[in-house]
Amino acid sequence: RSFNLYKYIILLVIISIISISCNGKEINNIIVQTNKADISNNNNRDDIKVSTSKLTSKEYEVLINKGTEFPFTGDLLDVKSDGVYTCKLCGNLLFKSDAKFNSGTGWPSFDDAVAENIKLVKDGCRVEVSCAKCGGHLGHVFYNEGFTDKQTRYCINSVSLNFVNKAEFEETNDSTNK
Ligand code: FE
Repeated sequence: RSFNLYKYIILLVIISIISISCNGKEINNIIVQTNKADISNNNNRDDIKVSTSKLTSKEYEVLINKGTEFPFTGDLLDVKSDGVYTCKLCGNLLFKSDAKFNSGTGWPSFDDAVAENIKLVKDGCRVEVSCAKCGGHLGHVFYNEGFTDKQTRYCINSVSLNFVNKAEFEETNDSTNK
């Protein structure tokens, strides 16, 4: 019971934050998405063509239900090593470590992406970022905030990504090319 109350309070806080900068339509979306997460682990999106059966409930909530992980909780937030970030769902190459920066927002932030491998779609007052190959939800992109010269912040959920270190990535690429 206290856990439900906690969830409710968190939801209210999220809605309050969003209502400052967004319209009501989007608030409805978030409520619907949160409810959906509790239903089952069956894929409820027609546009996802890859198997989702191995996703954890947390991964499913973000990648499929387009949820958002709590800030400062993601495993990849403070990763600074050389390497690449791939789609958790299909392995598509999405971001490179040299584009990662610390925005202080609590989510992994990148000022550049592998453009041909991501898809951008308007989502209320924001722009949604998803994987162009499998349709998995990654996060949102924001512009002109002044963080870096590129004036772009891909705000991405850790849970949507895998980090592959440079040596491992090069090894995989070499064996693919042979
Ligand atoms: Fe993908």
